[in-house]
Amino acid sequence: MAKKRFAVLGNPVAHSRSPEIHQDFARQTGMELSYEKILVPTGKFREVATDFLALDGVGFNITLPCKGDAFAFVDHKSSSASKSRAVNTVSVDSNGQIHGDNTDGPGLVRDLVHNLNWKIEEQRILVLGAGGAVRGILWDLLQASPRYLHLYNRTLSKALVLTEQMADARMTAVDTGDLEDCYDLVINGTSAGLSGMVPRVPKKVLGKHSRCYDLVYGSGATVFNNWCSQINGCEVADGLGMLVEQAALSFHLWFSEEVHTGELISTLRKTGSS
Ligand code: NAP
Repeated sequence: MAKKRFAVLGNPVAHSRSPEIHQDFARQTGMELSYEKILVPTGKFREVATDFLALDGVGFNITLPCKGDAFAFVDHKSSSASKSRAVNTVSVDSNGQIHGDNTDGPGLVRDLVHNLNWKIEEQRILVLGAGGAVRGILWDLLQASPRYLHLYNRTLSKALVLTEQMADARMTAVDTGDLEDCYDLVINGTSAGLSGMVPRVPKKVLGKHSRCYDLVYGSGATVFNNWCSQINGCEVADGLGMLVEQAALSFHLWFSEEVHTGELISTLRKTGSS
């Protein structure tokens, strides 16, 4: 029997670790699948996605910058996808209807709460950045009942737009003067670290008990996490766990199977992640 065909679509996509993650899940559950990386030329998402499904594709993941295109492509959306206006997982039901989900936000919440044992409920949260990655996590963070969530971005207008879209009284877009001391949880969702920089934010936002999470991940500690550890010895974590957890949730959508993630996260960390 031919293996079920899955893929990740994006641009760039060569760096993606999704194939090895999903092959690990397939081994755990005794499934047979193929999982490819498909580069989407600019403006060609719909064409590439349609061809993939027409050629026996069962489901696929979407990475940057195509999550908005995937949102427009699907017939039905989960609430997380609707609220974040982003789709990272596509599946097709028995009637041929195309479903879009966003597992990034739930993946982050699972990593924070189950893997790291960090609290979200009743916490004072600061999120840095207002790009695609942050758009994908805000709704799920709010579902996990923080006391409030402040959104701070270099370009304030983008944070204001996201805040308006979320329409949740606990969330506020803040300017530098509104930032508070010692947030409980600080999440870096900017891409500053990719060019070796820390987003400009006053040190006072971090206290001794602040916990810091960088959505970026890499082979060593991220620039942002190094900065946080040096300021107050804050507890830090990077986004590798989120990557694996969002994949586990996609796998569950496709196969209704639960998988173990802890060992895989450790293995990926040892073998280097980009
Ligand atoms: P994006 O849409 O391009 O947005 C970039 C964001 O970073 C914007 O808010 C931008 O601010 C801000 N920024 C960039 N350089 C900055 C600097 N030097 N100082 C302060 N702010 C800066 O990118 P994205 O898709 O949101 O991705 C953000 C990061 O999340 C990436 O590093 C990506 O790898 C990571 N990510 C991780 C996962 C995971 O599974 N762990 C999933 C998705 C994304 P302006 O609005 O002012 O330009």
